[in-house]
Amino acid sequence: MQPADRIQFLRQEIRRHEDRYYQQADPEISDGEFDALMAELRALEAASPGLVTADSPTQRVGGRLADGFPSVQHAEPMLSLDNAYSETDLRAFDERVRKGLGLGEGDPPVRYVAELKVDGLSIALRYERGSLVRAATRGDGDTGEDVTANVRTIRALPLVVPGARECVMEVRGEVYLPRAAFERINRQRVEAGESLFANPRNAAAGTLRTLDPALVARRGLSAWVYQLVVVATDGGGDLPESHEAQLARLEQWGLPVEPHRRPCAGIDEVVRFCADWQEARRDLDFETDGVVVKVDELAARARLGATSKFPRWATAFKFPAEQRTTRLLAIETEVGRTGAVTPFAVLEPVVIAGSTVSRATLHNADDIARKDIRPEDWVLVEKAGDVIPRVVGPVLSRRPMSAEPWVMPEACPRCQSVLVKEEGEAVWRCENASCPARIRRGLEHFASRGAMNIEGLGEALVDQLVTCGLVRDIADIYALTLPPLAALESQTQKADGTAIVRRFGEKSAVKVVEQIQRSRENEVWRLIFGLGIRHIGERAAQVLAAAFHSLEALAAATPEALEATPDIGPVLAASVHEWFTAPGNRALVARLGAAGVRMEVPEAERQATTAPGPLSGRTYVLTGTLDTMTRDDAEAALARLGAKVTGSVSRKTTAVVAGREAGSKLDKAQALGVPVLDEAALRALLAGA
Ligand SMILES: [Zn+2]
Repeated sequence: MQPADRIQFLRQEIRRHEDRYYQQADPEISDGEFDALMAELRALEAASPGLVTADSPTQRVGGRLADGFPSVQHAEPMLSLDNAYSETDLRAFDERVRKGLGLGEGDPPVRYVAELKVDGLSIALRYERGSLVRAATRGDGDTGEDVTANVRTIRALPLVVPGARECVMEVRGEVYLPRAAFERINRQRVEAGESLFANPRNAAAGTLRTLDPALVARRGLSAWVYQLVVVATDGGGDLPESHEAQLARLEQWGLPVEPHRRPCAGIDEVVRFCADWQEARRDLDFETDGVVVKVDELAARARLGATSKFPRWATAFKFPAEQRTTRLLAIETEVGRTGAVTPFAVLEPVVIAGSTVSRATLHNADDIARKDIRPEDWVLVEKAGDVIPRVVGPVLSRRPMSAEPWVMPEACPRCQSVLVKEEGEAVWRCENASCPARIRRGLEHFASRGAMNIEGLGEALVDQLVTCGLVRDIADIYALTLPPLAALESQTQKADGTAIVRRFGEKSAVKVVEQIQRSRENEVWRLIFGLGIRHIGERAAQVLAAAFHSLEALAAATPEALEATPDIGPVLAASVHEWFTAPGNRALVARLGAAGVRMEVPEAERQATTAPGPLSGRTYVLTGTLDTMTRDDAEAALARLGAKVTGSVSRKTTAVVAGREAGSKLDKAQALGVPVLDEAALRALLAGA
């Protein structure tokens, strides 16, 4: 296969997967596999710069921006919306609209479109002849900032809209951070000792205005669009005359339009929509703080016009804020895996946004002092962006006389080591590497799904193993044997005070031992991630494994060599280097190696430096009957081109070739999200190569 064909194929695949991921919320492949496709495309394009086109998915991550953002004039002003806080307000809005349109008692209800109001950052996207040429923030409504390079990294937004080749259009929408991405970023920020984003909107706004598009790409922003402004057309004519039809057109063109919108015949239906979503919105994967209500008919909108500030044809209904007051019983601290000691609030349980809250974050000691939050205070608690409950501040009028200011402990709550705070950091840390709290957290992390994925070795079992001295560090996990594990006992107290003793038992022990055994074969990046090196997340671990191939090489790498790795910056490089030079860590790695844990990326899976064939590095599985060739022939043809053909489907399989009457392998491929090729696709692949 010519590089040009492979590039073409990869671009198509990447776009298809993006569509499944973002538009259909039904991904076929894992993020890691997606990244692998992208990495291959990037490598091919780097080798043939002449083949790089502006619409290639790789071009989403542009170069570093110069400082500041140029300003951009919007095609039409981006007005903000008037607010409605109650059903009464909504009905008053309807009255004004009806009056403005000259409608009386007997006339039919006004048709509205109700859309969930995404809590993000407004943007205007300009497409010319179907290509995204510019993206700007709302700014002051007339002029925004040109954030094109950053917006190009948002996978949900197509760079090319073939359906819109005939016109120049501005599409408006909202860039947001999905809840899961928000939680992940805040977790990383805790570990890194950085201040937390208060809510996904702040995180999205902060991200979109960063000067590093590569960072923006990693944050995982997404977007919904909600308005089409046509600037000029070639043919004219065929433009939708209602808002709902416009949204349908945008959707049909492949732009992301939030699917829960509802056309409403009259304000009663709007009121019902708002009521329906008040609770249901918690199940969405993005934040919404209200409902935008718009008159559907564009001609009617034109008749209604705008005031100096707001369009008269729309309003934003805001859901009531989710805040409650409760008693702050105590402020306690907990120790994380990197030793960060963070305070949290123990609350008298209170129901907020549908769930009972008895703990809330207090960020850090400085924050507590600044807000003067004291144990015994009555405090206002909210679910920040409906995600993490947090203490907003004390209710001073209800402060008991006895409430004393809280003081951050000077020593680790678990090991009594003196806590240390680095220059410029807000987080206090326990620096004792053998702190039992850190060890427990470290073990939990090592066994967690994202890392070594040892099922059954969770918080409770880790706690028992550490308490009884069976496990002191991660290497000890591999020395665990059946008898002591099966004999583990845990005590729980019954309501009447009598204790029940439970043995862990043979069956559970066998399972855990099997899981531990299986984890010896894990990919090397899982081990690197599992070591719990500060700042090294899953992605960075994968990059390091791909670049260094073995723990030995990684341990020996200089900070310069580490920093020369794509995506590894100076902070990460220093952190890796520091970890491997710290006393005890190399011995720990050596013990893991001696226990049979995989320490090297197998030769076959390393990215081939010599290229014996155009399909090198790819693995195929054949199943079912082919019509135009035997399976042996197909296998031989693939092998001649450098591909590996194996008998069983795994996540590492590039694709499964399925002929007629394909069986369980096809099912497995579908279950694992491995691409499936039919015979025609196989022939095209062989012919192309
Ligand atoms: Zn400690």
